[in-house]
Amino acid sequence: MKKVGRTISLGFALFSLAATNAAQEPKALPLPDERYKTDILLVVAHPDDEGAATPYLARALDDHKRVAVVFGTHGSSGANEAGAEQAAALGAIREIEARNALATLGITNVWFLSGTDTASQNVLQSLANWDHGVSLEQLVRLVRLTRPEIILTFLPGTFIGEDHGDHQASGVLATEAFDLAGDPSVFPEQVAGPTKRLEPFLENLRPWQPKKIYYFPDADREDIFRGKGPDYSVKEISKSSKQAYWRMALDSFRAHQTQAKSFLDRVAQMDEAQIEKMATSDSFWTESLHFVLGKSLVGGRTTGDIFEDLTAGMIPFARPEVPPEPGRTDQWNFYAEFRRAHGLANLPHPEPPEIALQAPGTLVIPLWIRNRTAKTQEIVLSTALPAGWTTQSGAGKFTLAAKQVAAARIEVNLPAPAENTGKKPEPQEISVHAESNGQSIGEIKLRVELRKRALPQ
Ligand SMILES: [Zn+2]
Repeated sequence: MKKVGRTISLGFALFSLAATNAAQEPKALPLPDERYKTDILLVVAHPDDEGAATPYLARALDDHKRVAVVFGTHGSSGANEAGAEQAAALGAIREIEARNALATLGITNVWFLSGTDTASQNVLQSLANWDHGVSLEQLVRLVRLTRPEIILTFLPGTFIGEDHGDHQASGVLATEAFDLAGDPSVFPEQVAGPTKRLEPFLENLRPWQPKKIYYFPDADREDIFRGKGPDYSVKEISKSSKQAYWRMALDSFRAHQTQAKSFLDRVAQMDEAQIEKMATSDSFWTESLHFVLGKSLVGGRTTGDIFEDLTAGMIPFARPEVPPEPGRTDQWNFYAEFRRAHGLANLPHPEPPEIALQAPGTLVIPLWIRNRTAKTQEIVLSTALPAGWTTQSGAGKFTLAAKQVAAARIEVNLPAPAENTGKKPEPQEISVHAESNGQSIGEIKLRVELRKRALPQ
């Protein structure tokens, strides 16, 4: 008992020591199950998303790192290339495909949250459809169970690119779990010890603070990610398989029959030289992997190796350092608030915000309008658009009662994108102005790229 206090700290369970018999052999207290301890926890949205990181995971496994994976959904929507099953049945198949894909690398600690697919670029729709709170509780549990040193996930942000809302949601949840799993006041029933031998409710996990979080972008804007984290070549040869890492990733991807049977059937007919030719002509397989450092609680250079400056063992819980609220603003921007709340000041993001949309189609711009004055005010909303774009609804005169905040929305008709001009499509800038009593009270700018195909806004 003498040593207790400085080197070991005790919770309120101390009283139970009074009942032990000093003459007995000391009995080791049960510890967390080492089979689930991981170095890297990959958090993604859909079966096959792991492909964004598999060449790096294969490399990390060569270095004897332990890897676990969490999928936010079962990927139950979309076309089935391999059979007739759809919806929940397709999700059941895709769970096995994802497990098999990861098993080819030797990764078997794989879990699925209860989120469901959401076909949009709007992260808030995905979070709503995933039961945000439920998914977060599940993910915090898995972080406490797997005790990762590193979390790898999609970059939470809005960009021109595929920018799937579910991918963003996995990055949002992973960031939240990074900041919450070490806090014993968060989901405390998970860290509470058993009150009976067959405890049915309390989980007896320990809080766990991961050390670094890295992101991979789901966007085309490579320019703003360069130099923000380490790059890994996928062409190096694995010590264990004697194959290039991209080749191991391709072998792993073969499990995803429902998503890519036609492609995989073609690959199955190829010899090694043809596979090599196919992969080197498609940068998807052989391009280096870029990661963006979200934050590190243990130092290390931004572009240094992911495991740089990491030492084994627990680190204390670190509440994110939140910079003071920026000057009074009438704009609510989810990701600006998110970056501030999670201490991600250096996370790359486009200014002004940008999006790629299918056209012809409609762009919806949601607005918040605040009246700080003591009387009802008249507000005029107007847009400035490129030639051929028109305001469908939402512009004009409105009134807003004293001291109130109200939501409005503007809809813009998008023309078809220009036919093959030979040039890369350029995003165009649009703006929305709000005026009251002849004075400007706010302006929002947005860059929009028109595409033949894109996820819904
Ligand atoms: Zn996906």
